[in-house]
Amino acid sequence: MVESGSVTRRKTTTVDVGGVCLGSDWPIAVQSMTNTDTEDAEATAAQAVALARAGSELVRITVNTPKAAAAVAEVRQRMDDAGCEAPLVGDFHFNGHLLLKARPDCARALAKFRINPGNVGSKQGGEPFAAIVNAAMEFGKAVRIGVNWGSLDQKLLTQMMDDNARLEQPEDASAVMQNAIVKSGLRSAAAAEDLGLGPDRIVLSAKVSRVPHLLDVYRRLAARCQYPLHLGLTEAGMGRKGTVASSAAIGALLLDGIGDTIRVSLTPQPGGDRTEEVKIAQQILQSLELRSFRPQVTACPGCGRTTSTFFQEMALDVERHIDERMARWKQVYPGVESLSVAVMGCVVNGPGESKHADIGISLPGSFEAPTAPVYMDGERYGILRGEGLVEEFLGILDEYVERRFGPGGPGEQQAEPAADVVTSAG
Ligand code: SF4
Repeated sequence: MVESGSVTRRKTTTVDVGGVCLGSDWPIAVQSMTNTDTEDAEATAAQAVALARAGSELVRITVNTPKAAAAVAEVRQRMDDAGCEAPLVGDFHFNGHLLLKARPDCARALAKFRINPGNVGSKQGGEPFAAIVNAAMEFGKAVRIGVNWGSLDQKLLTQMMDDNARLEQPEDASAVMQNAIVKSGLRSAAAAEDLGLGPDRIVLSAKVSRVPHLLDVYRRLAARCQYPLHLGLTEAGMGRKGTVASSAAIGALLLDGIGDTIRVSLTPQPGGDRTEEVKIAQQILQSLELRSFRPQVTACPGCGRTTSTFFQEMALDVERHIDERMARWKQVYPGVESLSVAVMGCVVNGPGESKHADIGISLPGSFEAPTAPVYMDGERYGILRGEGLVEEFLGILDEYVERRFGPGGPGEQQAEPAADVVTSAG
């Protein structure tokens, strides 16, 4: 078992996917998938670059037709030309063996092949499966064996259902289904190893769309192998439902120490921003304190003590301020992504929560004196008041970031002693 923040991760092998290592000795990687037509290399490369720039460390593209396979090398080249090094993963179903055989340039351009044991020709024992595994060995690529209950090997499932029916005390159908999902993944991985693919080239996933079932399947899988596991709730859905269900499922498994790479399979709104799934995946990891990607703003929900919208607007202003600066901050202030900022609505929890943050402000609630104490590293730094309060707080935030994360390092430069009143403008 491997310690990672507050979580003890299940020990796994390491799989190098085009320079991004997956496994318990490595950070849990964020990945995503394009939804463009891969035959359109320009659009696919543009979306892959956008996903990578949003934080996707691996980008999967569907490779479903001869023209799509022919476009993969161009997608890779366009990404390289844009300065984007994120490894590409090819998603193969039904005809992957034919496409990889016909297009060695496609095989070379990809860092990992995803195989679905339920629809790879004549399944894991057959020639199509062997052809993909052999291509992975020939080109030095990793393979994800990705079982999905929507395309589970029906022969295996039927056999297991029949065997179950003959038991004195048969399990219910969903338990048999979960067993079949696990068995399909493990059997395919064993078949790939029998063909000569090293365990350091194999990643497993076993996706279902119901949260309790997903937890069950992954816990069973984790107990029975040491391959890195790719987590995701398949067909999670749209908006609030997809976000919450994915967070609940992925979060619960990560807290169990299970999972080495994650993808949030969110259905975007028509014309919506595909990078949203990347930001949610990052937020899951950051909320669990497994990785840090951007400063976190803690804000209270507000209540009857915050009858104006000022406090909500200020929390939003702080978020925007951070977003606008993050690209530069990341370059010049290493470690800034671990910063915590609090924007609180009143005196009830405001001072306490602000002291827990690196820097925080406790705004005055209704009927409180119109002053806003600022806290820094657990100590009161000063008080703001008046119309320029937001700008002044943002200025103090910028100074804090520079002092703490800038050249000279944390602690070398001290904050000015706390002053009772920082400003009295207005
Ligand atoms: S901190 Fe104050 S304003 Fe915010 S929710 Fe609590 S009581 Fe309400």
